[in-house]
Amino acid sequence: LMYLDHLASTPLDPAVLEEMLPWMGVAAAGNPHAAGHRRGWRAAEAIERARGDVAALIGARAGEILFMSGATEANALALLGGVPEGWPVLCSAVEHPSVLACVGELARRGHATETLPVDAAGRVDPDAVRIDGPALVSVMAANNEVGTIQPVADLARRCRERGGLFHTDAVQALSTGLLDVAAMGIDLASLSGHKLYGPMGIGALYVRQGVAVRPLLFGGGQQGGQRPGTLPTALCVGLGAACRIARERGAADAARLRELRERLFAVLADGVPGLRRNSPSAEGMGLAGCLHVAVPGLDAADRLLDLPELALSTGSACSSGEGGPSHVLLAMGRSVEDAFGSIRIGLGRFTTAEEVDRAGALLVEALQRGS
Ligand code: PMP
Repeated sequence: LMYLDHLASTPLDPAVLEEMLPWMGVAAAGNPHAAGHRRGWRAAEAIERARGDVAALIGARAGEILFMSGATEANALALLGGVPEGWPVLCSAVEHPSVLACVGELARRGHATETLPVDAAGRVDPDAVRIDGPALVSVMAANNEVGTIQPVADLARRCRERGGLFHTDAVQALSTGLLDVAAMGIDLASLSGHKLYGPMGIGALYVRQGVAVRPLLFGGGQQGGQRPGTLPTALCVGLGAACRIARERGAADAARLRELRERLFAVLADGVPGLRRNSPSAEGMGLAGCLHVAVPGLDAADRLLDLPELALSTGSACSSGEGGPSHVLLAMGRSVEDAFGSIRIGLGRFTTAEEVDRAGALLVEALQRGS
């Protein structure tokens, strides 16, 4: 099976697994919050080292990182816990459902909310952020369906000029790129382990020093009470290792993936009449490993079931259960037909050129068969 669904989830890097394993065995038993013995201290030390590695990837300080169960939780804490009483809340039309649903919940709680439109490439125009006073603005760093990279530094500046707070769901941007939260003026940022070759079930929220979030959970006071609960040592260590590796090799991975992506696109464009690219092609506008294309007349969900050798996606894993057309493609002005006739290919760190060539040939054959 060729795994080409890296936007849905990345495999655990073997180097990350190796660092996690010692923290999963009998010898590692011990609560990292147990103050009374060496086992607890050692686990706590490992977790704090990992916190430092997460912080380093995004230009933050260790004390600004809260470990979470994943980005769904991080987005919820940022939005539900981070918004001050009575502030308006703005987000883009192409956010992940875990952001959109929180903004919906804030509307039910009485906040004024607004959805920022995107252009045909999926980008938010910073000039479209029209706020007279403080607001919470949430725009993702990169989109999980089409890979569009957002101008978060400009958006954050707009927001700051009005005394507001800027949150970014940075989940998709971190395996191949760097986000400098300090330089970009970001107040809150969400991360997820299984999108950067770390483990599933762990993520983090960056909370800029001085920004207050109200906790969603209550308990033993761990992580300053902002997110209580016993921390999973192995998962925290894994997230830290994944962030350290992303920092070391993210730029090189991106360059290689961009080349593979263009190689695959050339094969598809050549072999499939009428194929159009939904993911941005301009340098710096889209994620290196993401290729999203529309094929006229294709019902992607049906046709791709015939390709058992390929793991790729006809939408995003998070909304495909609902069966509707992608809200991202519709917001970009695509037709419902295009939204159903699109496929998303996500290349990753361990994807080889041979795999890309074989996948290209298989796809061309399958797509020609039906159109
Ligand atoms: N935001 C984005 C952009 C995502 O792609 C995902 C994962 N599909 C999430 C949030 C949710 O992350 P998690 O799986 O860690 O809850």
